[in-house]
Amino acid sequence: MRLSRYLLPTMKETPAEAQIVSHRYMLRAGMIRQASAGVYSWLPLGYRVLKKIEQIVREEQDRAGCQEMLMPTIQPADLWRESGRYDDYGKEMLRIRDRHDRDMLYGPTNEELITDIFRSSVRSYRDLPKLLYHIQWKFRDEVRPRFGVMRGREFLMKDSYSFDVDFEASKVAYRKMFVSYLRTFARMGLRAIPMEAETGPIGGNLSHEFIILADTGESEVFCHRDYVEYDVLADDVDYNADLSGIVDFWTSKYARTDELHDQAAFEAEVPEDRRVTRRGIEVGHIFYFSTKYSDPMGARVTTADGQDMPVHMGSYGIGVSRLVGAIIEASHDEAGIIWPEPVAPFDIGLINLKVGDPDCDKACEDLYNQLQAAHKTVLYDDRDERPGAKFADMDLIGLPWQLIIGPRGLQRHVVELKRRDTGEREELSIGSALARLWAYAT
Ligand code: ATP
Ligand code: MG
Repeated sequence: MRLSRYLLPTMKETPAEAQIVSHRYMLRAGMIRQASAGVYSWLPLGYRVLKKIEQIVREEQDRAGCQEMLMPTIQPADLWRESGRYDDYGKEMLRIRDRHDRDMLYGPTNEELITDIFRSSVRSYRDLPKLLYHIQWKFRDEVRPRFGVMRGREFLMKDSYSFDVDFEASKVAYRKMFVSYLRTFARMGLRAIPMEAETGPIGGNLSHEFIILADTGESEVFCHRDYVEYDVLADDVDYNADLSGIVDFWTSKYARTDELHDQAAFEAEVPEDRRVTRRGIEVGHIFYFSTKYSDPMGARVTTADGQDMPVHMGSYGIGVSRLVGAIIEASHDEAGIIWPEPVAPFDIGLINLKVGDPDCDKACEDLYNQLQAAHKTVLYDDRDERPGAKFADMDLIGLPWQLIIGPRGLQRHVVELKRRDTGEREELSIGSALARLWAYAT
């Protein structure tokens, strides 16, 4: 992509309304524009990151055996009357009336709709288990939308739903999602720690929030250092195998947010030099809730011994749009964003320091073509701008690599290659610079 033609409205000034770094940088880097409180348009650069995150989430759901589908954003109120949540949800629910005076709503989540689909299509234990997901926009009329996409009113969520014949079978689905979440976040360069979460009044439920550590997180978190040091991606996972060993490791040691934190238990269970107290951001939440929806909504299956029983369900959410902000919170410096390679909007920023100089233009065009031919994504800064402004913009938008081409270097047959995360700069021949970039598979 040529920057001269790209919609990238970067800003030097810090926007007054943005309180946290991810919100500031997303606005300054021209990734999002606010349409109304907590509702954003995704500009081209931001949308590329959102799509990359979405794709990683999708691949890991598929790998775990979850089937993708798509439910609508607008739902009929009657389904929510059946579950009893139409009134419970209160003002967070955006209620709409259509031209026939029917009550509709913009879905804040999809348990009711998926339960309705299930009850009209599945009848027997033989058709179980089922594990389904979709990636769809949600609306929650949050009292205080803030921090940009981190707590929006409209936001993109991946939500999965499991259907099983009993609690034992549900645990298999729960473990699959548990392990796939660990790997999903690790692939984005994040360390997400599953923490015990509130399960509500019904006994026998299971619930974990996946929290990434970042200084600006909304909750305080307490956990064993083993969880901070463990390399999640070191081993391959077979989702058809018994995953209880992995889940046991991640649930055997102390890991809780302030909501459930117990200082005495923390001190008793974790040696002093292994105690971690940090702030964290919730990026995912998994929940087994038994027959909470299937019972009132009549989603029942016949069991092996001929009984007719409500199906056991769980739901599993990931905040896809929140992750864009969360990754920035976890990875930035004073100059801007530092994208982990797997979610970077482009692999390489190519900077032409002297547009109009025939040697520079020629070298840049050649590199631009070669890099793209090798399936690298490149943002080519071909604008007629001061070098200082180009460097500042490139640091701000945080691409993993910068390839800098200037007339003086070219006379000596060298270009400069800079890594955004370490700030390391190296003068190299064009051939060596390319070799260095090929070595990094993205
Ligand atoms: P929170 O405790 O942050 O309000 P929640 O418990 O209401 O979240 P869930 O219903 O578990 O959230 O939704 C699943 C995921 O969707 C959350 O883990 C979070 O990552 C994301 N999410 C929830 N609310 C928002 C929001 N207002 N803006 C962006 N992402 C959100
Ligand atoms: Mg939650």
